[in-house]
Amino acid sequence: MGSGTLQIDLDALASNWRALAAMTGPRTEAGAVVKADGYGLGAAQVAHALAQAGARKFFAAVAQEGAALRAALGPDAEIYVFSGHMAGDTEAISELSLIPMLNSIEQMTRQFEALPGQPFGIQLDSGMNRLGLEPAEWGAAREIALGLGPRLVASHLACADEPEHPMNRQQLDTFRKMTDGIEAPRSLAATGGILLGEEYHFDVVRPGIGLYGGLPFAEARPVVRLSLPVIQCRDLVEGESVGYGNSWTAEGPVRLATVSGGYGDGLLRALSNEAMLFSGEVPCPLVGRVSMDLITVDVTHLDRDPEHLDILCPSQSVDELATGAGTIGYEILTSLGNGRYRRSYEGGGLISAT
Ligand SMILES: *Cc1c(COP(=O)(O)O)cnc(C)c1O
Repeated sequence: MGSGTLQIDLDALASNWRALAAMTGPRTEAGAVVKADGYGLGAAQVAHALAQAGARKFFAAVAQEGAALRAALGPDAEIYVFSGHMAGDTEAISELSLIPMLNSIEQMTRQFEALPGQPFGIQLDSGMNRLGLEPAEWGAAREIALGLGPRLVASHLACADEPEHPMNRQQLDTFRKMTDGIEAPRSLAATGGILLGEEYHFDVVRPGIGLYGGLPFAEARPVVRLSLPVIQCRDLVEGESVGYGNSWTAEGPVRLATVSGGYGDGLLRALSNEAMLFSGEVPCPLVGRVSMDLITVDVTHLDRDPEHLDILCPSQSVDELATGAGTIGYEILTSLGNGRYRRSYEGGGLISAT
């Protein structure tokens, strides 16, 4: 023991999926994005709970992520891969029945030569300039691609978390120009796009962060709680300093708790002197630098030494914690997912720990 516990509420996760799905009309199907090990929360458990809630289409970043998903979901779920069909992926795509979202003419050639007749999707670039065929490439390839019956034709919005951003309308128009009139199902919206309204929904939506309790889905139920054990407490007198670089100095007598968890557990070093922990609902500031395995917290104002302190809890969301580190909820979740925490799952029809 000794490291913290990530408590993951699978009922809240399922409820967030249902809430986002309910924002779309009856002709739109909600899938679920479970890349990066389910945004750090455990792809197998997350995908299983979402399948029980009714999700049938799942999205991974790379083919490698497909194995854990296929094992958790069984043979019927559709597992799409955003990176498409990269060199070396053929065997995994074929054996795990993954659906690559083909991003280039090169990937299309690779897919159609190596796995003719196997399911595929197409990703189009509507302006983000990250993945997908550009309008001119699509113009050259679309007849062949559409003739082979893609399972999905998708694109991704660059600024969907800013509803007023003109890029949203611009990408919508481009996507429409590239796909109006085709028979294949279309998909443009992730969490932010769902919130932009029905015009953006098409046939399939691909929510990720909102499922896990993050912005821009402000009404999301929190999914993660992170509680960290206190190793020891000590008194400092005025003028004594704490941790590497002496970056914090006591201005009077203080009591400090040394807590198990550091940047080696995804508590970003940028949180040094910039985060709050909680004893129940009482805020306790992180003081000094975040070390690899430890943080130090001012607990002077508590009645007694705490046994643990919470860094994600009802009093502090992933996005509030992210603000202190100058980042976003997505990065907080995925970096915590790489930590040494015990994961404990509640709800979703199962209670288990890893
Ligand atoms: C990550 C990702 C999503 C999910 O985005 P969220 O903002 O987490 O909802 C959807 N589509 C693509 C292509 C992605 O890369």
